[in-house]
Amino acid sequence: MLQRVNPGNKSLADYRSIVRRDLYDEICDLAGRLEGARVLHINATSFGGGVAEILYTLVPLMRDVGLQTDWAVMFGAEPFFNVTKSFHNALQGADYELSVEARAIYEEYNRQSAAALDEEWDIIFVHDPQPALMKHFSGGYSPETKWIWRCHIDTSTPNRQVLDYLEPYIKDYDAQVYTMQEYTPPDLELPNLVLIPPAIDPLSPKNMALPGDDARYIVNQFGVDTERPFIVQVSRFDPWKDPLGVIDVYRAVKEDVPEVQLVLIGSMAHDDPEGWDYWYKTVNYASGDQDIFLFSNLTNVGAIEVNAFQSLADVVIQKSIREGFGLVVTEALWKARPLVASRVGGIPMQVAKGGGILIDTIPEAAAACAKLLQDKDFAFEMGRRGKEHVRNHYLTPRLLRDDLLLFAKLLGV
Ligand code: UDP
Repeated sequence: MLQRVNPGNKSLADYRSIVRRDLYDEICDLAGRLEGARVLHINATSFGGGVAEILYTLVPLMRDVGLQTDWAVMFGAEPFFNVTKSFHNALQGADYELSVEARAIYEEYNRQSAAALDEEWDIIFVHDPQPALMKHFSGGYSPETKWIWRCHIDTSTPNRQVLDYLEPYIKDYDAQVYTMQEYTPPDLELPNLVLIPPAIDPLSPKNMALPGDDARYIVNQFGVDTERPFIVQVSRFDPWKDPLGVIDVYRAVKEDVPEVQLVLIGSMAHDDPEGWDYWYKTVNYASGDQDIFLFSNLTNVGAIEVNAFQSLADVVIQKSIREGFGLVVTEALWKARPLVASRVGGIPMQVAKGGGILIDTIPEAAAACAKLLQDKDFAFEMGRRGKEHVRNHYLTPRLLRDDLLLFAKLLGV
């Protein structure tokens, strides 16, 4: 048995007042055509990171509109996650020597996971590289099943060894879903490429409207002074999210705005063995500065707390070096926060003109943060524009519609 995840309940009707009428109707129409379709999502973890975040909303909504949808987590243990984290880094451009042992570990876990498939599905929706070989190892277990591979990361400058190894398996899927054309690997012809950007759930505890007093009450309890400005980055502790660079930005801002504080929030995902190393690296780099706060799910910062910190932040920063679609960016914009974010991956697409400041360097980031802390009107207008962009493009019902459209096409209904 693959490990099933219980994603809870959601109802599309609750989103009625948030999304456009035509989009709502389109979803209902597609759902009618797909009624009863059996859909299985597979990924590597039910906690931490963007994919789990998305599935907790998408799976219950797919169920609510009439599809028989399940979510399973593949088999995994430390040796496997060490390999797949290296793959993840390599696909984003890191140096990596692909060894015979690494391939053997990767293949073994995929083989076991594929062997555990024991039901008939119309669609199997595989997320990210960890389970990417499951289709291959599933053999002919269910010839009618359509297989989708969803890539959530930016693979535009990949390590060729890993990409060349994965290429035949990825091409074999009935659809390859990327966030945007620019993320697809150069020179890789994807026969069934579909472009679908992710989205955030406006009604989840992470993103639902939180009254200012409640947010302040929560933030205060963590020792952050709500009378003074603070900058927030919410991200896994990972070199690609550059928490050390964020501290450099904060130090430069502090020269202009001495009262500023910095909050770094990161969750420890089960499939991310590097997390702790990077957490300690960041703690050391902060070198006891009382105005730098580091929190994680292990210090009781969960969805509601993230919501509170994002909702109150004077500036949200996202200093990624590589990024797929940074859900955190969209989460912050949805809360009408002024944003400073790296010009990488999907971020430029996520940020409307005037709805955030895109930066390439630490001095640029520091100047942008200082400007936003000092010019409240400018910051307010930015938040307003950012939020509209999210409302128009990056809320869950749009993602649900895009996925249902793809299912309908693959199943010919
Ligand atoms: N997240 C969280 N707590 C944390 C750090 C991250 O809940 O301490 C969430 C964050 O709010 C977002 C997701 O994890 O929803 C991260 O997704 P993103 O696409 O930004 O980055 P990824 O980790 O997938 O690269």
